[in-house]
Amino acid sequence: MGALGLLAMDVPEEYSGAGLDYLAYSIAVEEISRGCASTGVIMSVNNSLYLGPVLKFGSEEQKHKWIAPFTSGDKIGCFALSEPGNGSDAGAASTVASLDGDEWVLNGTKAWITNAWDASAVVVFATTDKSQKHKGISAFLVPMPTPGLSLGKKEDKLGIRASSTANLIFEDCRIPKANLLGQLGMGFKIAMQTLDTGRIGIASQALGIAQAALDCAVDYAEKRVAFGSPITKLQAIQFKLADMAVALESARLLTWRAAMLKDSGKPFTKEAAMAKLAASEAATAISHQAIQILGGMGYVTEMPAERHYRDARITEIYEGTSEIQRLVIAVVITQDKAEQKTGHHDVSNTQHREVAACGTG
Ligand SMILES: Cc1cc2nc3c(=O)[nH]c(=O)nc-3n(C[C@H](O)[C@H](O)[C@H](O)COP(=O)(O)OP(=O)(O)OC[C@H]3O[C@@H](n4cnc5c(N)ncnc54)[C@H](O)[C@@H]3O)c2cc1C
Repeated sequence: MGALGLLAMDVPEEYSGAGLDYLAYSIAVEEISRGCASTGVIMSVNNSLYLGPVLKFGSEEQKHKWIAPFTSGDKIGCFALSEPGNGSDAGAASTVASLDGDEWVLNGTKAWITNAWDASAVVVFATTDKSQKHKGISAFLVPMPTPGLSLGKKEDKLGIRASSTANLIFEDCRIPKANLLGQLGMGFKIAMQTLDTGRIGIASQALGIAQAALDCAVDYAEKRVAFGSPITKLQAIQFKLADMAVALESARLLTWRAAMLKDSGKPFTKEAAMAKLAASEAATAISHQAIQILGGMGYVTEMPAERHYRDARITEIYEGTSEIQRLVIAVVITQDKAEQKTGHHDVSNTQHREVAACGTG
């Protein structure tokens, strides 16, 4: 995948990336996830959640150091925002970073970190000024392994079982002062903007799972004979297939729209949330119906339908649950309406959106 440019798709060529755009990225994540949703999330986390914030907020020096080695597949990165005590409420981070001379000292535990066991670096979020609440969170670049940082056990998951998920435990973990990413106190903003783009990746992962489930159902239905003819002749099956195809295609259009808005430099927070909500719920519903169409064969590991069903479920949870996507969409549409009425853009709205746009990686 590294050799094909799939691990750094929108990274400019000067930093060893493929120099493509988010629409290309969305299509690629979908196709990879159609074959393997675990590989899809590994790819999405490296592109969107690790390289994304370094590219957008890193200094020139940081970009050269922390991007190029992570484009070829030799090294991959991860993103650590969630904690055991807070996931959706990302502003309540209890991991702390304090300055000691020329070093930051990190203490705390990050939970559910995708790629944790395989990563060579992490973008981690920690509180540098508790009195400032979410405005007192900062982002840091931490090499892995490094003294003071240990890994928790690999989580035993329902799906995406080929991707590693584990806690990162920071105990007096010292990193150079220069490893602060962006400005002090900018961490929450970095996290929220990163998740906006990440949601396009997860929506695309969900599309790939849904397409694979639909393909599997159509193939099986064409071959399976019941009551003297293929089950594709039964209207009950035809209606299921039609509804599955409509849900998938609608979600794909929403996802590509979000990607194209990002590519043209326009706001896309709401559209990315809509894409992820629609695609993840479509993946869950389509993989559920695929099992139904396969009957007993849907329930056993001989056929891939049960894997798609297990893989689909996570897309409604990570990078913001479906409830959080609805919250983001509602906040943006009500604020846009208020701005249209008053005819002026309230800068505090931007911050309100950041707060509402919680939900982690
Ligand atoms: C396999 C896997 C991989 C992951 N990878 C990463 C990663 O790489 N990096 C990372 O930082 N995190 C990662 N996560 C964490 C993931 O993003 C969180 O699990 C997710 O954001 C939900 O947080 P939570 O589990 O704490 O649930 P909670 O926030 O405790 O939510 C529990 C329930 O309450 C609902 N809820 C919470 N707040 C609200 C609200 N305001 N309105 C309505 N409903 C609400 C939620 O929707 C949910 O249904 C991963 C998780 C998993 C399972």
